[in-house]
Amino acid sequence: MEISQARDLAIDLMDRHGLTEGGWRFRFIRSRRILGQCRKERREICLSVFFTALNDEGRIEQTILHEIAHALAGCENGHGPAWKTQAVRLGVRPRSVARNVRMPQGRYKAHCPKCGDVGFAHRRPKYLGQAQYKCKICRSTITWLVRVESGNASG
Ligand SMILES: [Zn+2]
Ligand SMILES: [Zn+2]
Repeated sequence: MEISQARDLAIDLMDRHGLTEGGWRFRFIRSRRILGQCRKERREICLSVFFTALNDEGRIEQTILHEIAHALAGCENGHGPAWKTQAVRLGVRPRSVARNVRMPQGRYKAHCPKCGDVGFAHRRPKYLGQAQYKCKICRSTITWLVRVESGNASG
């Protein structure tokens, strides 16, 4: 989704659910790991620019509403009953976003030759290029390598 459209959508939803009135602001964050965030101290609803750029409007709207529900329920209460009540009211579909979300993959990659599991990491593994790790699924020995970019964007 376009970044500017996502910002408009977020602000519109925040207006509609009373957050703007309550002093909340919207901002983008440059996170490759998290989709969105509710920052109580700063009264900010945040959205990852990477997540926004790589995903469709439906997922982005759900993520914004998920964070708005945190703001209304109290961010410190996690996904407890207060959050659930708000989430239902706002039309957040449980686990609708986490599935099939597209996020940038890390620079490092490990491929298990035995079970085929593939892992990505953003931070440089300590023993890069050495057979020093175990596959989390089958416990075979795996090696982290610098990922070679392939031609297509899907990876
Ligand atoms: Zn949450
Ligand atoms: Zn394995």
